[in-house]
Amino acid sequence: MKSKVYFISQKDSNNLKEINIRLKLLLDKSGILNFIEKSQKCAVKMHFGEEGNTGFVRPEHLRIICDAIKNKGAYPFLSDANTLYRGRRLNSQDHLKLAYEHGFSQETTGAEVIIPDDTRSEEAVAIEINQKHIKSAKVARIYIDSESLLVVSHFKGHILTGFGGALKNIGMGCATRAGKLAQHCNLAPVVHLERCIGCSECLKVCPAGAICIQDKKSIVDSQKCIGCASCLAACPTMAMFIDFGAGDLVQEKMVEYSLAVLKNRKGQTGFINFATRINKECDCWGMENPRIAPDVGILASMDPVSIDKASFDLVNKACGRDIFKETHPDQDGLKQLKLADRLGLGNLDYELIEL
Ligand code: SF4
Ligand code: SF4
Repeated sequence: MKSKVYFISQKDSNNLKEINIRLKLLLDKSGILNFIEKSQKCAVKMHFGEEGNTGFVRPEHLRIICDAIKNKGAYPFLSDANTLYRGRRLNSQDHLKLAYEHGFSQETTGAEVIIPDDTRSEEAVAIEINQKHIKSAKVARIYIDSESLLVVSHFKGHILTGFGGALKNIGMGCATRAGKLAQHCNLAPVVHLERCIGCSECLKVCPAGAICIQDKKSIVDSQKCIGCASCLAACPTMAMFIDFGAGDLVQEKMVEYSLAVLKNRKGQTGFINFATRINKECDCWGMENPRIAPDVGILASMDPVSIDKASFDLVNKACGRDIFKETHPDQDGLKQLKLADRLGLGNLDYELIEL
């Protein structure tokens, strides 16, 4: 049976008030919050955006979502786990401060922000899944223990996974730093020395301190590398090369991690995708990155696979071509959805209900 995906068009409006009116209608008509029960704590899984990035979902929209959760008598809180790379979201204190700087204050959203600190063993949990790559997934406990979970994702492009939506927000986003490392390892780039001009651009952006320049050539320490691919984007001569077969591996591990987070949560997790402000790269990029598609709208579903597939289809329809393949030709982002479908996480076939 096809899963239902509810959709409301943004109709090219950049007016926050007007978009919020449509968001309210979507929440109301889709019944997406019906799984949340009175008195429950509800984790709203977010991405607060890296410093310098502006693609993240606006705090004003979170106000609408949190108020709707509160109207059900439940208690929402906003949350994201810390990152692997050096930046403003590496530890809980800085991450929290950045979330406030990006407008996610209690006054704006009506909800507290909680960033789990996975350096404390009691805030992480291992989930046994015994899959092809991941036997035991390391996840921030708060997402497992929360009585209800609403995953609010910004749908956009991604250098390693082609695109990122609900599955990326769950699989990568709920993992502890150790879990993120398990998903990114084996991705250290190789330097084509004949192309390297020793400009140090890669060294400047490397969040792991994994690059040094010797004899005017870049050298990557594969033991320190976390496979973020930032150096590829920064290199002006395309001297950095990652085996993008390894990008497939990241997608597979990410889906296995999604399986861990959603294990025993069937019917207790809802998904909202904002297919708006669609950038070429992830909100982890600490810089503005180019828009690749027009704003499409907001989607809601109880199925993470269907909502990502519908987002992918709607964005490509608006562009008149596969914009994700065009901007990331080495990646096939649909692989994550096909595997998730096979593992029973959701359904590639969906019924789109436009409101
Ligand atoms: S992929 Fe490149 S930028 Fe990222 S950690 Fe490895 S060497 Fe550094
Ligand atoms: S950015 Fe590219 S060309 Fe410059 S040092 Fe790094 S690998 Fe070499």
